[in-house]
Amino acid sequence: MKICVVGTGYVGLVTGACFAELGNAVTCVDKISEKIEALERGQIPIYEPGLDDVVHRNVQAGRLAFTTDLEESIREALVVIIAVGTPQGDDGRADLSFVRAVAASIGKNLDSYKVVVTKSTVPAGTGRMVRQVIEENRTDETPFSVASNPEFLREGSAIEDFMRPNRVVLGTEDEQSAAILRDLYRPLYLIETPIVVTDVVTAEVVKYASNAFLATKISFINEMADLCEAVDADVNVVAKSMGLDRRIGPKFLHAGPGYGGSCFPKDTRAVHELARDAGVDLRIVKAVIEVNDSRAPIMIEKIRGAVGGDLKGKKIALLGLTFKPNTDDLRESPAMAIRDRLLAAGAEVRAFDPVANDILKGEPIEGMTYSEDEYAAAEGADALVLATEWNQFRSLDFVKMKELLAKPLMIDLRNIYGPERMRELGFEYTGVGR
Ligand code: NAD
Repeated sequence: MKICVVGTGYVGLVTGACFAELGNAVTCVDKISEKIEALERGQIPIYEPGLDDVVHRNVQAGRLAFTTDLEESIREALVVIIAVGTPQGDDGRADLSFVRAVAASIGKNLDSYKVVVTKSTVPAGTGRMVRQVIEENRTDETPFSVASNPEFLREGSAIEDFMRPNRVVLGTEDEQSAAILRDLYRPLYLIETPIVVTDVVTAEVVKYASNAFLATKISFINEMADLCEAVDADVNVVAKSMGLDRRIGPKFLHAGPGYGGSCFPKDTRAVHELARDAGVDLRIVKAVIEVNDSRAPIMIEKIRGAVGGDLKGKKIALLGLTFKPNTDDLRESPAMAIRDRLLAAGAEVRAFDPVANDILKGEPIEGMTYSEDEYAAAEGADALVLATEWNQFRSLDFVKMKELLAKPLMIDLRNIYGPERMRELGFEYTGVGR
């Protein structure tokens, strides 16, 4: 099947590469020419484990190509997948200008029947808007179908998530497009992936509902962590015991500095605004957002308390900057929010992140140093703060750390280490909710 994927970011590049891997002829389009030129040279513009192999293999096999020429790519494809960004607008609503622009191009280049699939996360009703924009821009009555196929992959395990998803959701408006999309996803159906076929607006709501629910689990356990601290209980044991109940499940119950990344913060705000526009007050989602917004200040108070009350002039070694491990994505990263608040409070921050250091060190900020590794960051520091749980931070050499730090003080915002073990190693330890 000939596919055009518009937007070659985390979702578009993974989608394009994986559909090529499944035997389709895919063209990935982006408007950023440097990105396309890099891909043509074989360079992958994002950090995503395993993606380079899939891209190189499929480019060599002639099934995957990159271009900035949106018009030609649309004309050649049967299925056009929209995977552009839908960032948060100033009012909290999703900014659909990129989706609208692509829909207009599709309309202008609609020379044969096509299925136009929105994979970007979009508010309910976007499918109707895409249909309208295409109709306004097409020059004749060439038919087309609009569909919604929300994406659930996680950065850091995107290939596995795409190739072995828990489910595929297809929102379609007619049998013809449903049959084409079922055919496209047939290889996943053969490995028993549940495929839910529904209408377009329901599929759009599925994505926001799923992300809002996962964010709810995170904010819920973070509030329980606050309670545990107040009553001297251990949130890790609470979460583990809760998670053993199959009705609850163990995932997304890790107390910490709050959720971040390019999806949960913007999607919870967007669904809240979308509901408000529809006359519905999503009170739970509102509370989830409020709880999450309070996490960075709570983490700063924790660090301030651990270093003795004043952060001014304190040297803080900060481990991890990305919003989670195995990605280079810094968007709405809790670790970055903590970095900024530490700097604003007058602390000197020495950070190390295995991937983000290279991205950030070109931008000098007063009081900020990017260290060569976790041990260089700790040298002479008043406290060690673990903000993102990269694997290499899971087995730190604390004998060496203790020698390097000015004070053996560890603030573990991801609860990787145990309070008892750290005390045995001679550290003053502060976790989250324990
Ligand atoms: P991204 O910012 O990494 O990539 C979007 C790309 O679209 C950019 O490269 C941009 O240049 C390109 N683009 C914008 N307008 C264009 C146009 N007119 N023509 C061609 N290219 C254009 O975004 P992302 O993280 O891949 O997310 C894309 C969508 O998928 C968003 O709606 C997001 O919410 C959703 N989503 C993201 C994830 C994730 O983990 N990142 C997971 C599921 C869903």
